[in-house]
Amino acid sequence: MSFDDKLFEYTLKAARDFENGFETNPVVPMQDAIDAIEAFDEPVPMGKTDALDVIKLLNEIGTPATTLSRSGRFFGFVVGGTLPVSVASSWLTSTWDQNAALTVLGYTAAKLEQVSRKWIVEMLDLPAETAMGFVSGATMAGFTALSSARHRIYKNLCYDLKKQGLRNAPEIKIVVSADIHATNISALNYMGYGRDELTFVPVDDQGRIILSEMPKLDDRTIVLVQAGNINSGAFDDFHGICDMAEKAGAWVHVDGAFGGWMKLSPKRRHLCDGMERADSWSIDCHKWLNVPYDSAIAIVKDREAMMETFTISASYLTTDGERIPNNFTPELSRRARGVDVWAALKHLGRDGFGEMIDRCSDHAAWFAPELEKLGFTIMNDVVINQIVFCLNDNDDERLDRIFKRVNDSGKAWFGSTKWQDRTVYRMSIISHETTKDDLMVALDAIKDALDKV
Ligand SMILES: *Cc1c(COP(=O)(O)O)cnc(C)c1O
Repeated sequence: MSFDDKLFEYTLKAARDFENGFETNPVVPMQDAIDAIEAFDEPVPMGKTDALDVIKLLNEIGTPATTLSRSGRFFGFVVGGTLPVSVASSWLTSTWDQNAALTVLGYTAAKLEQVSRKWIVEMLDLPAETAMGFVSGATMAGFTALSSARHRIYKNLCYDLKKQGLRNAPEIKIVVSADIHATNISALNYMGYGRDELTFVPVDDQGRIILSEMPKLDDRTIVLVQAGNINSGAFDDFHGICDMAEKAGAWVHVDGAFGGWMKLSPKRRHLCDGMERADSWSIDCHKWLNVPYDSAIAIVKDREAMMETFTISASYLTTDGERIPNNFTPELSRRARGVDVWAALKHLGRDGFGEMIDRCSDHAAWFAPELEKLGFTIMNDVVINQIVFCLNDNDDERLDRIFKRVNDSGKAWFGSTKWQDRTVYRMSIISHETTKDDLMVALDAIKDALDKV
């Protein structure tokens, strides 16, 4: 069955209409649109529905209920938008239906992973042979990199984890920032470690590891640090931590889901000083690189450890090509997400990407004092794109009511967060779409809510 023009034309028009309404539509769907998606919940369809009718239904009911998290006025969570070039590359790649498991199933996909790997490794100041797997998100990137770390430690101990298993394995120590993103704990859980087995290191008021609190490290230790705290945006002291780790022979992993890209920023790259000395990194592409979901990279300097952890051998899997994509990921079959990464990097270039992340961070630097003028206290050092704030009088309950009102206005959207044992608000500016005008609209919505609450 091939595509007919009507299906493509309708879909293209639907996408265009979505784009055209984008600036004026509410940032989050209205309640009637959310109610309307109940219509999808039908009994199992027994017969066929014409493809065009399916897409019409999807558009008519689904589109109005979309959350415009890619909007320039969506400041909740830490999510990112999508560059038009990467949406287009993703469409085309879906049409190709390439499986990025093997080169023979997708020559272009495999090549563009390899090219993106080379570019990113160079831009992050890493050795040329550094390995990279293209995974679904930073959670899986953490799992992938940390599994590689564990493999290296056991290999050095002549313990074959794949054969002998975890139950009788020598103990290893996992040292984690007390303020690490929760998904790293999930990744460690998937690897078989419980929370009580981890050593948490106390952090300062920005969520950075306090160096003097670091435990003794050895060559059976993995240390997890952060480039970009999920709330404050703070960066750990990579030189300080890597000095200790290098002396002890410990493995350092950096969760740089969004902050890892700061290395490309002309103005703020000093925050990443020493990050290149670590052993592995997890970095999202669906956040600051602004490519469609789902996309992230696991980066591991020790190519051998990564390949030995993830190579799947089966008699029918061919090993032609210079880099077998599935040797670096937990999955076998997967979407050719590296194509979107390549498209975004090719389009923006290193300088354009660096400019974009600085622009987002400059916006935050401008917005924070504006919030102060309105009676808010900024609770973090605004070093990149993140602002954590509360009311001057610490009335967190009113703060919540104010921002519920802002969010209900559909003009802008802010999310709450837990910071220093309080529920306060957080602004993350991470979409390439955010302009000064968007910030003005958001400020007006806040002023209006302050008047009324
Ligand atoms: C978003 C984020 C994660 C999790 O990433 P996913 O892509 O959602 O799996 C981990 N760490 C940090 C710092 C993040 O911002």
